[in-house]
Amino acid sequence: MRRPLTRSELDAIREQIHGDALGPQELVTAVVTAVFDALLTGQARTYRDVRDDALFDRDNYAIPASQWTAIVTTVTDRAYTWGAATSTGMDLAALLPTSYDDPAVPTPLLKPIDDNPKLRRLDISSDATATVASCQQHLIELAAAYGTDSDLYRDATASWSLQLTNLISGPPSAHRVLHPDGPLSLYVSTDDASHYSIAFEPLAPHCTVAGCHAVTAADGHWQPSHPDATVLDHEHQPSHPADGPQPGRWITRP
Ligand SMILES: [Zn+2]
Repeated sequence: MRRPLTRSELDAIREQIHGDALGPQELVTAVVTAVFDALLTGQARTYRDVRDDALFDRDNYAIPASQWTAIVTTVTDRAYTWGAATSTGMDLAALLPTSYDDPAVPTPLLKPIDDNPKLRRLDISSDATATVASCQQHLIELAAAYGTDSDLYRDATASWSLQLTNLISGPPSAHRVLHPDGPLSLYVSTDDASHYSIAFEPLAPHCTVAGCHAVTAADGHWQPSHPDATVLDHEHQPSHPADGPQPGRWITRP
C-alpha cells in the first residue's frame, strides 16, 4: 500500500499536529494514528486495531517523501514547546509508514490552521547575548551616575523595556534572529525578509537653563538646537557631562 495522502487526510493530520496533545508522546501517537487511519481507509479496521498485531508491518505502507518530510518537520517544530524536538522526531520517524520518492507530489503546508503557533521562535546569536548584557550594564551605569529617579535613567529604561517587549510579542509566524549591531544596538532579521534595528540613540547634552535652547554638537561645542532656537549668552548648564555614561534611548529603525 503506497499512495499520497489526500488533501482532507493531510488536513486531519495537520489538526492533530496543532491539537491539544499534552506532551510529545501523545503528539506522536495522535499523528501516527491519523496517518495510518488514512491509509487503512476501506479495510474495516483502524490503527488502534492493528498497532499491537504481530502481523502488522508498518513497512508495508508508504507515503511520498515530500509528505513524510513535511509531517516530521512540522511535528518536530511543534515539539520544541516541550524541549523535545529531536527525540520526538526520531520516535515519529520510527513509527510512521516508510516513504517513497515521487517528485510529482508537492510538499504540503502543515502550518497551524489559525497561523498562531504554540511556540514563538526567537533565536539569539551568542554575540547578541553579549550586546544585550552590555545594554543592561549601560542602564546600571546610568542609574549610578544620575540616580534611578532621574529622567535620563527612566527614559532609557522605558525605551529598552519597550523594545524587549516588542521583540518577544512580535508577529506570531515570523521566525526572528537577533544579531549585534554595534556596542549598544541590535539587528532583528526575520524569515519573511523584514528586518529592523533596535538602535541606541545617545542624547546630546543640552542646556538646562529655562529659555536657552543650546545643545552640544558632536565636537563638543554649543549650538542652537534648531536654526531659529534662542541661545542665551551665559555659561550653559549641561544636562549631563559628555564624558560620563551616555543617556539616550533605544529606538526602532527600519
Ligand atoms: Zn544655556
